[in-house]
Amino acid sequence: MQGKIALEEHFAVPDTLNDSAGFLPADCWTELSARLLDIHEKRLHLMDRHGIEMMLLSLNAPAVQAIPDPARANEIARRANDFLAEQVGKRPSRFQALAALPMQDPDLAIDELERCVTKLGFKGALVNGFSQVREANTAVYLDLPQYLPFWAAVERLGVPFYLHPRNPLPSMAQIYEGHPWLLGPTWAFGQETAVHALRLMCSGLFDKHPRIQIILGHMGEGIPYSLWRIDNRNAWTKAPPRYPAKKRIAEYFSQNFYITTSGNFRTQTLIDAILEIGVDRILFSTDWPFENIDHAADWFDAASISENDRLRIGRENAIRLFSLKLG
Ligand code: MN
Repeated sequence: MQGKIALEEHFAVPDTLNDSAGFLPADCWTELSARLLDIHEKRLHLMDRHGIEMMLLSLNAPAVQAIPDPARANEIARRANDFLAEQVGKRPSRFQALAALPMQDPDLAIDELERCVTKLGFKGALVNGFSQVREANTAVYLDLPQYLPFWAAVERLGVPFYLHPRNPLPSMAQIYEGHPWLLGPTWAFGQETAVHALRLMCSGLFDKHPRIQIILGHMGEGIPYSLWRIDNRNAWTKAPPRYPAKKRIAEYFSQNFYITTSGNFRTQTLIDAILEIGVDRILFSTDWPFENIDHAADWFDAASISENDRLRIGRENAIRLFSLKLG
């Protein structure tokens, strides 16, 4: 399929590059670091070759979220966003931007989101899970009350918010001890991000701000597959859910969430997601440079779905969600 739009696509700046070391075998680092620092060469060539018209670019992980000092987090976020704006400016028909945000300080995060959207023309934000705030051994999640003004700003600006994975801190990862292969994309990324998303849904955030749209990668981090069970456990007790939110989780998931195909190129999984939330809330993405563009595109272009659905997932949903102006 030509004209695809991909939106979980990462780059790095020198300040954040090393955050991506260690996820892949050491002998891949030369290739991975070159991929992260490149925008207009190999990346563009692969986009052309595999029918990707546009990428929405975002900073690597955990990057800004792992800088406990709020002022320093803000400085790095601004530096990365300014760099990204400059790159997008060189080829706006091929690249658009999602902002990195210093969530360590909700007021700074609001200011930076507003600057990126209104002054730099960014299409939304991408945040790498919880933030370490002031102390390295802290994990502050986005459902906490100090973030309500931030979420009000997200709703007011009308831009999507991509909740991207990071690993749990060692102090929170006892279950993975002795099993390092389960960290990262194998399992821990999905578990961490799914629980974070469920916290947002249970907290009542979307009752207060019903127009917020959250994007999850990796075909929804496992949530579509578990959606029915989340709402129907022990149904014989007829007990109402014990959380502050007013509705069932499936309602928030189908009204306030989108998912992407990033790093999860599996037709069986895509079809389950279509059956749970419908094609209008699914978007093509690759997760470059951690996954290969050809792996994503070759799978998606041949996946056993209707051509109408391919067009919506591959292109039209993204144009609508981000109000993209394309030729
Ligand atoms: Mn990613």
